[in-house]
Amino acid sequence: MVRILLRFSEDIVELPITAQIILKLKVPIAIVAAHVNSKGGEVLADVPDAMLDKVVKAYRAKGVVVSFPKLIEVDSEKCFSCGSCVALCPVEAITLDEDNTVVFNKEKCVGSTCGACVEACPARAITSVKQNNSIILNNLRAKKGKDK
Ligand code: SF4
Ligand code: SF4
Repeated sequence: MVRILLRFSEDIVELPITAQIILKLKVPIAIVAAHVNSKGGEVLADVPDAMLDKVVKAYRAKGVVVSFPKLIEVDSEKCFSCGSCVALCPVEAITLDEDNTVVFNKEKCVGSTCGACVEACPARAITSVKQNNSIILNNLRAKKGKDK
């Protein structure tokens, strides 16, 4: 699965765009997090790798801005297990194990839509990083070139 960030403007936020794309392409799109109101919003979603091109194209055709979110990287050398980040994480992507060691579950992280732990870490052990999707981006660029 590839994580994508969808930005809906005020004029399209109430349209059932995701449902339409799921039905049309017969693709499972998993909503990981959403911050949406009548003024627009952001939705973080997981899309199967093989369908990424088609899904991105379908969203963009409907006026949705699609980007690839930043996720986090943790420097375990710098982390001194203070635990400050654990309680701040809204999706329980950071937990403590039995030894009180801080454990990061990056699959759960909602990336650039949050960033709470990045700001909070006194050791600057957590950084936002771009999802490693250079291959995907290259595929999209190549396809865009062919479509011209
Ligand atoms: S960026 Fe947010 S969601 Fe991700 S691990 Fe940090 S606090 Fe949790
Ligand atoms: S806030 Fe930083 S130093 Fe503290 S547990 Fe989290 S990553 Fe480690």
